[in-house]
Amino acid sequence: MALKLSDLRTEVHNDWCPGCGDFGIEAGLKMALTELPIDINKLVLFSGIGCSSKIVHFTNTTGVHTLHGRVLPFAQGAKLANPDLEVIAIGGDGDGLGIGVGHFVHAGRRNIDMTYIIHDNGVYGLTKGQASPTLHLGMQTKSLPMPNINTNVDPIMLALAAGFTFIARTYSYNTKHLKEMVKRAVAHKGFALVDILQPCPTYNDINTKEWYGGEDRIDPATKKPMPRPYELETTGYDGRITPMMSEEDVEKKMVQIIEKSREWGDKIPIGVFYQNETVPTYEERIKERITNYLDEPPSEQQLAMTNGKSPVDLVKLAKGLLIEKLVVA
Ligand code: SF4
Repeated sequence: MALKLSDLRTEVHNDWCPGCGDFGIEAGLKMALTELPIDINKLVLFSGIGCSSKIVHFTNTTGVHTLHGRVLPFAQGAKLANPDLEVIAIGGDGDGLGIGVGHFVHAGRRNIDMTYIIHDNGVYGLTKGQASPTLHLGMQTKSLPMPNINTNVDPIMLALAAGFTFIARTYSYNTKHLKEMVKRAVAHKGFALVDILQPCPTYNDINTKEWYGGEDRIDPATKKPMPRPYELETTGYDGRITPMMSEEDVEKKMVQIIEKSREWGDKIPIGVFYQNETVPTYEERIKERITNYLDEPPSEQQLAMTNGKSPVDLVKLAKGLLIEKLVVA
């Protein structure tokens, strides 16, 4: 039976600041979940640490609130132990691209079939607005005593270099677009990133809702604001790599993705930058080596016998590993 929005509601008090972009992300995510063919009993949300990561408390499904920067190891571990789960990892840009950036890169290399959503607001909101890795060089948001001295990490470029096979960006106040990006990411076979641009009205006083909405630049002809985010697909852009494509065409696509990811400022592309289902998933690679992996994944295996001992014959295992002496307690 399809999920309803009311099924996903919780009674947990929501303490996000009024006007926070997190509300738009929560709404878009929940709308996507109600439109996807998901069994609620197999859905697990994992989150890191930050304002964004409280979302697991506000969503009535299995949720695991993990450690700072460590959402991907937890989420990947669960998916590998039980490939039948629908796993969505969620966190902020500081969490995933600061302390967690090593996990981000290696998750891309693995290409496990799961989704990672980043709430990208350029600051560490939970700890009073320090510059996060996505804040651009020279920007001085209101908690910074001086302009940001570092260049920014570009999640799109980093994900492409790391090997993610689905890379999308959306905007938290465009919930219709956000919902579609999450749906496409979940449906994608492989590791999917959705980077969500999100105003933090409390600490990022530069990339505000008004800034994204273009209220500082009025079209002289229409006398209306010119919003910065625009949808890639409406320009004819297509970031998909298909099996029949020549190497030359794939190269051209890669160049196109890099060009688009560098657009920022007056025009900010949102949409699917890249999708490649020709790369085998990690689950498929494991199955090549352990043929019964999907039929008998670790979650289906017996961890201990009724007497508490391991069901594994450790002496036999040791011989197989060429270890001559093994002390079994
Ligand atoms: Fe949202 Fe910023 Fe408030 Fe955190 S500090 S809840 S990101 S507005």
